[in-house]
This record gives sequence, structure tokens and C-alpha cells, in this order.
Amino acid sequence: MQAFTDLATATYCPRKLYYRRTHDDRGPPESVAAIRNLAFRYGELLDADTDLRAEPIATTPTAYRSALGSAKARLDRWAELVDPPETRVFLRGKDAHGIAHKCLSDPPAPVIVSPGEPPERGVWEPQGVRATAAAKALAWELETPVERAYLEYPAHGVVRVVRMTTRRKATYRKALRTAEAIDGPPPRLRNDARCESCEYREECGTRTRSLRSLLSR
Ligand code: SF4
Repeated sequence: MQAFTDLATATYCPRKLYYRRTHDDRGPPESVAAIRNLAFRYGELLDADTDLRAEPIATTPTAYRSALGSAKARLDRWAELVDPPETRVFLRGKDAHGIAHKCLSDPPAPVIVSPGEPPERGVWEPQGVRATAAAKALAWELETPVERAYLEYPAHGVVRVVRMTTRRKATYRKALRTAEAIDGPPPRLRNDARCESCEYREECGTRTRSLRSLLSR
């Protein structure tokens, strides 16, 4: 049984998952909680009387309200995302378990809330794997297909739909195989931008691009 977050990390970098397990690093930092809480306050955040300058948002207040307003106009399940029937639900599937930050009910769909920045389009692949893991676990529990999940980036006021495509399911299965197979340090990523924001880069010994450029001066 794998944790949703481990599957996401295995997709990001198998070696990073090895370090995370070795150090038993699990919980997110405290700063993440305040950002995640934004995802439970959309109604209040859209209210013109709320001072967004006091909130942990990553854009200007005007851009933030515009992004949230566009999500509200575009998403047919906005009302449920604002006022979800279930929050912070522990899901246990056939192969993986973990938390869905919200669960919508009809049809069922899990929501993962990310404290980070969204890509220009779609979702980051590790987060797509996490959302897929949550959708599969929810489907397993309810014994009914779950066709989509949602990923929210509340620091940016952005909500993305994650459809359970064949490719996404294949990426999820690959993450499962990777996470299950780790029994020693996997190879380092080579020359990869992912190392620049990896908290294990010193231990890993991977020189980041910025360090390389410093040394070449
Ligand atoms: S520094 Fe790079 S190779 Fe090493 S664990 Fe982190 S992401 Fe993986």
C-alpha cells in the first residue's frame, strides 16, 4: 500500500522518494496550511470587502479575484468546490491511500489542494499522479467509476480538472511500480531543473545549474 504523496514523489524523482523514506520526512511545513486553507474560503475571498493583501496569495489582489472569478464562471461544480460535502477525507484504495482535501459527491470526485504554482496549462505530472491515486481510491471505496478529479492552486486562485485518461492511468501505474521497487538509492536525475528545488540536493550531490554556472565563471 503506497501513500498518494509517495507516488507523486516517485514521479518527480525516485531518488527523492528514497531520501524521503530514509529520513521519514512526511508532513508539510506549517506555512502550507495557511495557503491550503484559502481553498476553503473562496466565497469570502471573492467578497470585495475582504482585504486580500493580508492573505497568503501569490498574485496581486486584482489578478487573484479575476482568476477566482474565471474559475467560478468556467466550472460547473463551483458551488460544491466552495462548499464541499466532505473535507479532508482519508481514502484507502486497492494500491494506495491518502488524503483528499475535498470530496465532491454527485458524481464523486476527489480534490487535491496544492500550495504551489500551477503550470501554464493542465497540472504538474506528479500532482496528476496524486489526483489519479485519489480518484482510484475513491472509486475503490465507492465501487463506482470516478472519471475526474480536481486540482486547486489556491495561492493563485486557479482550479484545474484532471480527467482520468488512459495516459494518466498509465503514468499512475508506472509510479506504483517505481515506488514499490525502491530498495536502495535510485540513479540521480541528470542535468535536470527538478534538482534546483529539491530539498535533498546537497545530500544527493547533484550540482544545480546555478552552482555550475557559478563554477564556470
Ligand atoms: S537532487 Fe535531483 S536527483 Fe537528487 S533527489 Fe533531488 S531531484 Fe532527485
